[in-house]
Amino acid sequence: MNIHEYQAKELLKKAGIPVHAFRVISRKEDIDHAMDSLGVTEAVIKVQVHAGGRGKAGGVKIGKTRAEIKHKAEALLGMKLVTKQTGPEGIICHQVMIAELAEIAKEYYLGVVIDREHAKPLLMVSPEGGMEIEEVAERNPNAILKVYLGLDGHIHDADLEKVIHFMKWSGKTAELGKSFVKTICKMFVENDGNMLEINPLIEDPEGKLWALDAKFAIDDNALFRHPHIAAMYDPSQGSPQEAIAHGMELAYIALEGNIGCMVNGAGLAMATMDLIKYHGGSPANFLDVGGGADKEKVAKSFSLILSDHNVKAILVNIFGGIMRCDVIAEGIIAAAKELHLKVPLVVRLEGTNVEEGKKLLKHSGLKIISADDLTDAAKKVVKEVK
Ligand code: GDP
Ligand code: MN
Repeated sequence: MNIHEYQAKELLKKAGIPVHAFRVISRKEDIDHAMDSLGVTEAVIKVQVHAGGRGKAGGVKIGKTRAEIKHKAEALLGMKLVTKQTGPEGIICHQVMIAELAEIAKEYYLGVVIDREHAKPLLMVSPEGGMEIEEVAERNPNAILKVYLGLDGHIHDADLEKVIHFMKWSGKTAELGKSFVKTICKMFVENDGNMLEINPLIEDPEGKLWALDAKFAIDDNALFRHPHIAAMYDPSQGSPQEAIAHGMELAYIALEGNIGCMVNGAGLAMATMDLIKYHGGSPANFLDVGGGADKEKVAKSFSLILSDHNVKAILVNIFGGIMRCDVIAEGIIAAAKELHLKVPLVVRLEGTNVEEGKKLLKHSGLKIISADDLTDAAKKVVKEVK
């Protein structure tokens, strides 16, 4: 789950990382109060959306007078931000951060990710901050230092020295840097992070280090033990379908195509999407209903898929291992009747009680296209939308 910059900064601040004072507003009427309580006449104003590259897209502004801050904050509230990461439809900005204006002497990059290949957290730092790290990696990979961390987020002393040396921090800044890096690595693991990016991490003219920006993604599977982070979920930042799926604990990702997919198991769902593509179609979504999906979950999944108006046909691909095919068939029939299904429905069932399941579908009176295997199913559903 992604969280907003201001939420990430709250977590960083709690862990002891220096961040500039800020307020977050969602109504124009609150701008004056935010400026008063911050006690500033100069500020940076930033849209709060789940996307990077806000600066380039016009979502980060500097105000040097009260009037300017007010004017710019008003303009950013409700703005539709379109960046490389949002796609052409963009994201609406419902919240704006007003923060103390930082004086920047130098910008650095710091990121922590989970390296799945090595099964360890990986720290990445670069003295070339501020810009996109992908660009740095492409242009000058030597400008990025990678250090593996312990599973508890511990960084070895020798590695810490390497980081300080690589960033060319000395004297007081080196001491601050050590504590900054150690704290970040620890808080990343403690909060079950997937990805944490401080870009830029800045040095001010006095040699102090600050987190000027923060992007933090937390492992969904660990949210149950961080209720205060789980509560930071913002449904406005994804598609409406994703927001519904979030509440139902279904793994759903919206895509651009027109074939709705309902599959059990992430691997089978990926394979199904591949086959649809292979046969010339385009999936409208990834949806894993899970191993233990029941009638109710099947019905909910259908309504979720149908709430996407791009969907022109549905492919159900279920392997009945834990689930029985006859139970799934009953779920499909009930949902199709209840939702007055109008788009073609292709169903491929396999596994426990598959014959009973197929019989139920056949005698349901519904126009359900039955498929024998995955390839057959993909071909049939692609034919329906063509
Ligand atoms: P992003 O574009 O979404 O990554 O947003 P950032 O928060 O990283 O801001 C983009 C850029 O705006 C930064 O790299 C800085 O150069 C600049 N910026 C942001 N905040 C401040 C600030 O307080 N003072 C100054 N001088 N520049 C800032
Ligand atoms: Mn940034």
